[in-house]
Amino acid sequence: MKCQNLPLPPLPYDYDALEPVISSDIMKLHHLRHHQGYADKLNAALSTLRTDPETKYLAKLGVDSLLRSKLEEVPVSLRGTIRNNGGGYVNHGLFWNSMQPPSETVKMPSLIEREINKAFGSLKSFQHSFTKAGMGVFGSGWVFLIYDGVRQSLTIETTANQDIPKGFPILALDVWEHAYYLQYQNRRLEYIEKWFEVVNWSHASELLETVVSGAKEEL
Ligand code: MN
Repeated sequence: MKCQNLPLPPLPYDYDALEPVISSDIMKLHHLRHHQGYADKLNAALSTLRTDPETKYLAKLGVDSLLRSKLEEVPVSLRGTIRNNGGGYVNHGLFWNSMQPPSETVKMPSLIEREINKAFGSLKSFQHSFTKAGMGVFGSGWVFLIYDGVRQSLTIETTANQDIPKGFPILALDVWEHAYYLQYQNRRLEYIEKWFEVVNWSHASELLETVVSGAKEEL
């Protein structure tokens, strides 16, 4: 049987490119072990869905649509596996693209700058709220900058484990210990504060542009 395995998306930069903010050791382990692990377990679950004519249609959906709107149709025996590993698969994909080498940091594109100011008052105030949200995640989880299509505004959303956010994610920050412990030990606050030095605002602004223009078309 033909199996379309989802690949591990390559990092958009070298493993050591985010140093000194995130060490090469963390990046290798995180990408090659953790992200690969989510991809492998997701692929195994999708291939099980594919073998049953009743659930085959679910495996044909994109992971994002599967998680967003069809999770309840996944048999209970596989639902947790798909939710956790599918979420891990897509969240990490966005996380890598939410960052760029610190030397490449450029001026914030005007679209995202304007929307951040509109939603949070200032970049500084956004960073403060985002950091606070990240510190408030108990155990393992994520902090996202999302676009809320109903309010037509950027906002912050946190999720537990590998759950995806309800809104459209623009930036993702992994606050699982595996994302920082090797370098920052228990100092999550320092990790989050440093992380702002590697945020890829251009990528975030491109995503925002996509979702804002999509929302306008729906009106
Ligand atoms: Mn992770």
